[in-house]
Amino acid sequence: MYRFTLPRDLYHGKGALEALKNFKGKKAIVCIGGGSMKKFGFLDRAVSYLEEAGMEVKVAQVMLDFEPDWIVAMGGGSPIDAAKAMWIKYEYPDVTFEDMCKVFGLPELRKKAHFCAISSTSGTATEVTAFSIITDYAKGIKYPIADFEITPDVAIVDPDLAETMPKKLVAHTGMDAITHAIEAYVSTANCDYTDPLALHAIKMIQNDLVDSYNGDLAKRDSMHNAQCLAGMAFSNALLGIVHSMAHKTGAAFADYGAHIIHGAANAMYLPKVIAFNAKDETAAKRYGVIADFMGLGGDTTDEKIKLLIDYLRKMNDDLNIPHCIKNYGADSYPTDQGFVPEEVFLERLPEIAKNAIGDACTGSNPRQPSQEEMEKLLKACYYDTEVDF
Ligand SMILES: [Zn+2]
Repeated sequence: MYRFTLPRDLYHGKGALEALKNFKGKKAIVCIGGGSMKKFGFLDRAVSYLEEAGMEVKVAQVMLDFEPDWIVAMGGGSPIDAAKAMWIKYEYPDVTFEDMCKVFGLPELRKKAHFCAISSTSGTATEVTAFSIITDYAKGIKYPIADFEITPDVAIVDPDLAETMPKKLVAHTGMDAITHAIEAYVSTANCDYTDPLALHAIKMIQNDLVDSYNGDLAKRDSMHNAQCLAGMAFSNALLGIVHSMAHKTGAAFADYGAHIIHGAANAMYLPKVIAFNAKDETAAKRYGVIADFMGLGGDTTDEKIKLLIDYLRKMNDDLNIPHCIKNYGADSYPTDQGFVPEEVFLERLPEIAKNAIGDACTGSNPRQPSQEEMEKLLKACYYDTEVDF
């Protein structure tokens, strides 16, 4: 038996934020991250819509005292993910972080509050997913919390919010989204319910991402839907080792002054992982289907996979994302000598490889890497060398 879970309601299209006017409840808390939701006026609008719905509204950080029956999380992936973790804590104050990280092991939520997520970026799709990524800065590791309990009750996918994204964020979140769709499509947990969502998202991202990056706002609106469809796919089909590697390298070199931003990490690792996974016959066929769906040409499966890899690498170039960690600058742009020194990378490699194998996303990858293979794969992602193993 398989489970396919999505938010009960999804409001989309320009101005969808207004859906908050029709929420039923007594008290709502609005959680935001940095300042952009406030700066661009979306916070004020959300608060006034909820007040119009007859609710008492407070903004962030007072959840336990305030006892809300609605948690409304707005912003990029991180603040919404943090609000998901706060929601678990609010429902079960004694739960520990370790408890939360047990995959599909959360207790039943919604005893105290329902959850609405409103994304301002077009990548993580956390507004529709069963995931929350929490970074442990002390350990330099990102942990996914995974459980359908934290799939939001309501998602609001309003492209007005995404139009405020700076260019670099458009690039990174967009490559995150195409990685979600491709990993979901070849995941061992793929099914007839997730495949069409993944393929359609891939096609939309192929059509829209680079133009969105170059300032086409209609395409940016479309990307906001595309990333959400990719999210619906991967929340139910799960992901693969591109994400395992991105999770475990993202903060691993923070002591050298920067993070490898999630979407950029995915963009660099995805072509390498496709080459690695393509040794699995079923995965190879599925990559071929993706290439066909994108209209990339090629006669044999091998040719199709090569064309897919080339296409994705070209997207990195168009979006000013490097191809490997060695060339990843502290500002995320390509540079000759990136911020991760070679000897530091090699010294930390065995530990990072071990952590990546243990990541929650590895289980559904079509090919299970050994420690040695994962180290070789990560090396290929550092030096941008061919994956022929
Ligand atoms: Zn991702």
